[in-house]
Amino acid sequence: MGVPTAELGEFLASLGEPPYRARQLQHWICRRLAGSFEDMSDLPKTLRAQLQAQACLADPVVIEVRRASDGTAKYALQLEDGLVVEAVAMPMEGHTTLCLSSQAGCAVGCRFCVTGALGSGRNLRVHEIFGQFRVLMRSEGLVGQGVNVVFMGMGEPLLNLPNLVGALEFLSETVSLRRTTVSTAGVVPKLYALAQLPRRPNLAVSLNATTDEQRAYLMPGVAHWSLAELIAALKAYPLERGRRITIEYVLIAGVNDSLEDARRLVRLLSGLKVKVNLIPLNPDPDFLPGLEPPSEGVINAFAAHLAAANMNVTVRWSKGREVAAACGQLRGQLKFPRPAAVSP
Ligand code: SF4
Repeated sequence: MGVPTAELGEFLASLGEPPYRARQLQHWICRRLAGSFEDMSDLPKTLRAQLQAQACLADPVVIEVRRASDGTAKYALQLEDGLVVEAVAMPMEGHTTLCLSSQAGCAVGCRFCVTGALGSGRNLRVHEIFGQFRVLMRSEGLVGQGVNVVFMGMGEPLLNLPNLVGALEFLSETVSLRRTTVSTAGVVPKLYALAQLPRRPNLAVSLNATTDEQRAYLMPGVAHWSLAELIAALKAYPLERGRRITIEYVLIAGVNDSLEDARRLVRLLSGLKVKVNLIPLNPDPDFLPGLEPPSEGVINAFAAHLAAANMNVTVRWSKGREVAAACGQLRGQLKFPRPAAVSP
């Protein structure tokens, strides 16, 4: 992957600049993540002034940062049309993970997700997705450091596949695809499209159910594809050596947390190269009334059943809960204009 420099080259040629300037400018935008043309110190002053007058670096604008005691920082970012999306920086052991949004809302409507409860929103454009990365890297003082990037923020990335792929091209200038994960609710035809890319990011799939009825209840927006169709798409997904698909399973008390569910999950995933992340539900009495995480005993029993079947399983206690930056909580505590509904 790589960023096509042709357009930059054409624009710079129109300003009378030599072809190599395009690569220089791209380096400042994609690798050094400069926040202004003024910072691009090896460009001539006259060119910087011209760029300032005729072009813009349209990054989203930070309107709020909420930081949890574990260091997780949730950013509210305003786009050019006034919509607000959220992105999260999570300090982990030895690195930071950035969680980015791909849509300004979500049409999938997962029952356990605040973003889904708020409804659908428009697709983010390439620069709006990559701009979240640029802003968080600068604001968190991470420029020049290795980070992981996950598309687990607002929206279903595969319902915005062309712009996701465009953003991945920009991102791959600084972050290896091996450190980038796209998480999908399971949009089956788009999984086959993603599989066609010559180089692919890591894949995570939000499964959360072991029967089609359960999945229709929990994830109505992707229920027209059966679990059998989803598993077939995962079996066909090409994996590089040593890679696994991450299966995310949000555990909800009394809904999908029984030992029968654990047994069905083992059967469903048999033959697939996967690791399973069990995520106890992050409750939200306003947006997710009536849904609670299981008790620790139930969570541990579920995990133990998977482990006993030789599955690679982890219980993921979400970071950033106190600032509503945890899984499924984005847009939960901000009162900004709701995104206009669009069909995905
Ligand atoms: S969990 Fe993901 S796919 Fe489901 S509603 Fe929330 S943002 Fe959309």
